[in-house]
Amino acid sequence: MKNKHYIDRSLKSLWNPCTQMKIQQAQSIIPIRRGKGVWLYDYDDKKYLDAISSWWVNLFGHNQSEIKKFITDQLDLVEHIMLAGLTHEPVINLSEKLSTLTNLGHAFYGSDGSNAIEIAIKMSVHYWKNRSQPKKNKIIYLENSYHGETLGALSVTDIKLFRKNYASLIKKNNLIKTPDWRYAYKGETAESYALRCIQDLEIYLQENHQYIAAFILEPLVQCATGMGMYHSVYLKKARELCTQYQIHLIDDEIAVGFGRTGKMFAFEHANIKPDFICLSKGLTGGYLPLSAVLTTDEIYMAFYENKIEKGFLHSHSYTGNPLACSAALGTLSYFENHDVINQNNKTSAYISERIKILATLPISNIRNIGMIWAFDLEEVTKNTLKKISMKAIDRGLLIRPIGQTIYFMPPYVINHDEINFMIDTTLEVIESSL
Ligand SMILES: *Cc1c(COP(=O)(O)O)cnc(C)c1O
Repeated sequence: MKNKHYIDRSLKSLWNPCTQMKIQQAQSIIPIRRGKGVWLYDYDDKKYLDAISSWWVNLFGHNQSEIKKFITDQLDLVEHIMLAGLTHEPVINLSEKLSTLTNLGHAFYGSDGSNAIEIAIKMSVHYWKNRSQPKKNKIIYLENSYHGETLGALSVTDIKLFRKNYASLIKKNNLIKTPDWRYAYKGETAESYALRCIQDLEIYLQENHQYIAAFILEPLVQCATGMGMYHSVYLKKARELCTQYQIHLIDDEIAVGFGRTGKMFAFEHANIKPDFICLSKGLTGGYLPLSAVLTTDEIYMAFYENKIEKGFLHSHSYTGNPLACSAALGTLSYFENHDVINQNNKTSAYISERIKILATLPISNIRNIGMIWAFDLEEVTKNTLKKISMKAIDRGLLIRPIGQTIYFMPPYVINHDEINFMIDTTLEVIESSL
């Protein structure tokens, strides 16, 4: 009963994110003592399968020895230095490797995903100012998008619940129709729906391009609003339109980068080159907070001037932290030493096969790309949804439904037994809750 001790103390001292604390009190909370692979263990040593990679960050599960070694080696050298006027080997190595992987360069670092979004949108607007086009200062974003919750990131996030109370603080940007295929007409394919959305986008850009600095999107999967997926032709055509109308394309790969969609980066599915790429979450394999924004030489050169104010002066105290960069190098080294993407393809095929047993349930829109699966429960009440997650936790499965959507985004190292447990338990808890 050690759990209870930590739950009581936690509720008195902690304010949890994304949580109505009054409801949390009633539902309780799981205190986690340690983790190994896909499993988390509480203080009474009960284990839970982390089917959502702890908010999508733990690519290779918990307590991963190869990544850990990169951090401990760096710990013996130096833990932190400021990055203004100083530099260090981990940040240089990481910048070079990210540049090779993304075909973009001059990595700029932040401490989390929202930071990366702030950096990219500030850079874009500042670019147009430096290029004497200050009117190009609006960012356009997709319906159902999520790019983080700091004020700038919230200005391009389409979740009313998260925005409403801060409306007076948020700059008005412009919404674009989402290509999520669940909004297609009956009988319309994901591809033709995406193309129809592109037509709308084109009309919008024709009229407004002179005011638009950038178009920000989550490539192929709108994760935080319920794993909405769309066809890659949208990315390809959006890139063409952005080029035609001189608008930056900001590719927010914070959730889907590093192999999640079956390629190293989701933009590769469309064979495009974005103007900015934002990386975080999986970047350090879930070890330490870090984010990076990479961009083109052309954009970098617009800041390269004698005048100080033309430079990009944005800064964070922990920019390019050596331990976090080492964790990221550990993550990339894991990719280099293991055939991750191919191995994931096999794991993905197995999960897609096993997930078919859920088809007997009253669910719709079963969807998958790479190592992400989602489906929507039809006509369930909030109470039923709560029952499902509570029962799952009771049985040792950690899922965190988003509205009516249940999804799996497991660590890549999940094995067949663990997959069977994940799917069988899901079937059982849904069946017994309806
Ligand atoms: C999580 C997320 C963010 C914000 O990252 P934080 O580290 O939570 O600030 C931004 N964009 C996308 C697509 C995300 O999934």
